[in-house]
Amino acid sequence: MDKKKIIIAIDGHSSCGKSTMAKDLAKTIGYAYIDSGAMYRAITLYSLENKLFHGNELDSDGLKKELKNIHVSFRFNPEAGRSETYLNGRNVEKEIRSMEVADKVSIIAAIGFIREEMVCQQQAMGKEKGIVMDGRDVGTVVFPDSELKIFVTASPEIRAQRRLDELKVKGEEASFEEVLNNLKTRDYIDSTRKDGPLKQADDALVLDNSHLTIEEQNKKLLDWYRARV
Ligand code: C5P
Repeated sequence: MDKKKIIIAIDGHSSCGKSTMAKDLAKTIGYAYIDSGAMYRAITLYSLENKLFHGNELDSDGLKKELKNIHVSFRFNPEAGRSETYLNGRNVEKEIRSMEVADKVSIIAAIGFIREEMVCQQQAMGKEKGIVMDGRDVGTVVFPDSELKIFVTASPEIRAQRRLDELKVKGEEASFEEVLNNLKTRDYIDSTRKDGPLKQADDALVLDNSHLTIEEQNKKLLDWYRARV
């Protein structure tokens, strides 16, 4: 008999490996993986490209007017074996991971009308269940009734080092301090905003992966999933 399909919500701090674990779990159990942060990142890229930012000041009225022209979607790339983010039909998977986007994304993600629209689209993606979604408000706002909620964290220094290693592989230059400050700033803005703040759901299972290997964390998640289905 087919196992019942559930929704798995993975929330937590920036750069603690949520997307890696969500992707691995989704692949193992045959679920779709949805990276909700990529949607906020794609809107940030659009805002940067369309000069809606003046330093850290965002022209939010301008963005509101443009919202109907911004279409973010995901398409599976069989060669890479993962789904990639598209902004108005253009593959932006690489651009949305830049430091420039990381620097501004929490400003975009704090805007009420943006969150409202994103949450609506994310809920539609989970209609059939059978998804693993990672983000900040997935277990609290997007799918408060999801069957398995996981809250991930790790020390800021460990997260910064992991992020720095990732950027190096991609050939992007950044210093440890720059990355650490970006993480701390994003965590602060994400946790203190009015709409959909980053917080642990009461019924979430906590995973501190500061000292876990990828294999150990994958096993833990799989055990939790099995226990739920
Ligand atoms: O997960 P990732 O680091 O790619 O997310 C980028 C940013 O998008 C976060 O720092 C946060 O500001 C925002 N975000 C959010 N809600 C989500 C997912 C991401 O506010 N569900």
